[in-house]
Amino acid sequence: MDKTWQQNLKAALKGSTLEKLKKSPEFSSKASQLFAPVITETMDDLIDWLNPKDPILQQFLPQSLELEQDESSHTDPVGDHQSEAVPGLIHKYHGRVLLIASGSCAVNCRYCFRRHFPYEKSYAPRNQWHTVINYIKSQPNIHEVILSGGDPLTLSNQSLQTLTEQLATMDHVKTLRIHSRIPVVLPSRIDAGFIDWSQALTLSKVMVLHINHSQELSPEAILTIYRLKQAGYTLLNQSVLLKGVNDSAEVLAELSHQLFNNGVLPYYLHQFDRVQNAGHFAIELNEGNLIYQQLQKLLPGYLLPKWVVEQAGQPSKTLLTPTKTTESRR
Ligand code: SF4
Repeated sequence: MDKTWQQNLKAALKGSTLEKLKKSPEFSSKASQLFAPVITETMDDLIDWLNPKDPILQQFLPQSLELEQDESSHTDPVGDHQSEAVPGLIHKYHGRVLLIASGSCAVNCRYCFRRHFPYEKSYAPRNQWHTVINYIKSQPNIHEVILSGGDPLTLSNQSLQTLTEQLATMDHVKTLRIHSRIPVVLPSRIDAGFIDWSQALTLSKVMVLHINHSQELSPEAILTIYRLKQAGYTLLNQSVLLKGVNDSAEVLAELSHQLFNNGVLPYYLHQFDRVQNAGHFAIELNEGNLIYQQLQKLLPGYLLPKWVVEQAGQPSKTLLTPTKTTESRR
């Protein structure tokens, strides 16, 4: 019998799928103590284990490069901590709030800009949602609630329903947005109960996926994306520009095409946030500029993700404009 998504998630969190990672020549147990490796069976199956440079492997493998000092890095590079309105709720941008609904993910991406974020203290557990709900009620300019994390789809369908029932009673809240990597890394999570809940939801629904490379699109993930589309989600994707994973215009163009063929629009290409212990993923701005210029030549405008960077204290993401020279931006 197939495992349930909860069993699959538990296996990932308990490390049952880590054995192959540990056997990889680049594996560093010191790095794994800094940020626990977590990988799902779905991702494990997609990795070419004979290729140490496999772009999926690179995203999940703790390696000694993480131990190198990077003077320009931070533990909270996007300033989430300073924008907390109430515990677990980040009110950084006009009209929308980000609810850190869960402290865990189905995978631990080594480049994650929240790898140092104190989730255990900062996410809003279910018994504190009343504080979050009261805050959103008191702010009539909030029209969109973004569920983030961690990964909000680690919550049960019942929890999602309890939360969104309360949001749907507020006239000013129109849209529910979900930021999740789960449809791709743990497709079994999108079960019949999730689809039923989604279809019954009266709010507009947007899901922003996080896919960095077209190889992440397994047949199961593609089927799941189709089901989400059928359930009424507007589907977008954000990627992070990562050295050794997708730092080439051809790779990014292929991703955009694959996304579009499966009903997802490319949304953001994030310039890597300088998070501590992940400096080996960093692409300098001038290099990013070159890649993006080439990407512009390969893609029609509607398949070109916006190249952005998140800067602490700014009222929105900063749109990066490719230029012939980037000296003035550095
Ligand atoms: S799924 Fe997202 S939040 Fe979770 S570790 Fe990966 S990048 Fe970070």
